[in-house]
Amino acid sequence: MKILRTDSQLHSWISDNKNPSFIPTMGFLHNAHLELMRQAQQLQKPVLVSLFVNPAQFAPGEDLEVYPRDEEGDIEKLKTIGVDAVYIPSVAEMYPDGVQKTDIELPKMFSEIEGEIRPGFFEGITEVLIRLFEKIEPGNVFFGQKDYQQTLLVQWLVLYKNYPIQVHICPIVREKDGLAMSSRNAYLSDAERQSAVRISEGVFLVKDRFEAGERNATVLESFLEEYLQKDPLTSQIDFLEIRDAKSLKRVKKITEPVVLLVYVKMETPRLLDNIVLIP
Ligand code: AMP
Repeated sequence: MKILRTDSQLHSWISDNKNPSFIPTMGFLHNAHLELMRQAQQLQKPVLVSLFVNPAQFAPGEDLEVYPRDEEGDIEKLKTIGVDAVYIPSVAEMYPDGVQKTDIELPKMFSEIEGEIRPGFFEGITEVLIRLFEKIEPGNVFFGQKDYQQTLLVQWLVLYKNYPIQVHICPIVREKDGLAMSSRNAYLSDAERQSAVRISEGVFLVKDRFEAGERNATVLESFLEEYLQKDPLTSQIDFLEIRDAKSLKRVKKITEPVVLLVYVKMETPRLLDNIVLIP
C-alpha cells in the first residue's frame, strides 16, 4: 500500500492509477469505514482512501483539537483490507493559503438541520471535497448514509460542478446493539454508551409503526421524542424531524420517500441516526 503525503506523491500515483475509487475519511477508522472500502474494492480498483481531519468543517469551540486520531492503527487496518493507497495530507498541504470554506452559495437545504446546528459546516466540507475531487479526479466515490445530509451535498456538488464522478451511498453500519458506528462514539462514557442504544432502538420502533401503516409524520416524531426523553442521557435532542428524502422539505403526511433524521446531544458527542421510510 502506497502512503502519499504530498501533492507530488499523490500526482505521481494518480498518473499511474487514473480515476480511482475514492473514500474520504477523517480517520480513526472503524468497521463502517472499512465497509465503504470493501464496497469500493468490489466495484472498481484501484482504491484510494484519504485520512484528513478537515479544520474547515469545525466551528470554534468544537472538537477539532481532541478529535480522535490514530494514524498508525489506521494504516494497519488499511493494509489488512488491501486498499491500494492512502493519502494523508497535512493541513498546510491541503490549505497552503490558510484554511478556507467555500464561497459558493449552497442550496438552502444545507443551511438547515446540521447546517443550522453547526453553521459553516457544509461550506467547510464542500471546500475540502472540491480540493480532493480536483486533485484526485476519482471515477467513483463512496459515502455513508449515516451522514445523510452530507450525501445530498455530495450529490448536489457533483452535478453543480459537472464532475464525471459516480457517487455511491452505502447503508449505515451499526454496532451489534444497533448504535450507528462513529469515530466520536469513543467519547461516550459507559453510562452514555448504554443509553445511546435508545437512539437506534427508537428509530427502528418508528420504522415498525410506519410499516404498520402510520403515515402521520408528527405522530411518528412525537413517539421518538418521548422514547428518547424517557432517559435523561438521550433527552437533549438537537433535531428530530421527518423530511422529504430528496428535498429535505418538511412533511406532514407521508406519501413519498422520507427520511427520519435525529441528532442527540450527549455529554460530549452529538450522535446522529436516520432511516429512510418508503411508502
Ligand atoms: P468520517 O471519517 O466520519 O468523515 O466518515 C467517513 C465516511 O464514512 C463518511 O462517508 C461517513 O458517512 C461514513 N461513515 C461513518 N460512519 C458510518 C456508519 N456507521 N455507517 C455508514 N457510513 C459511515
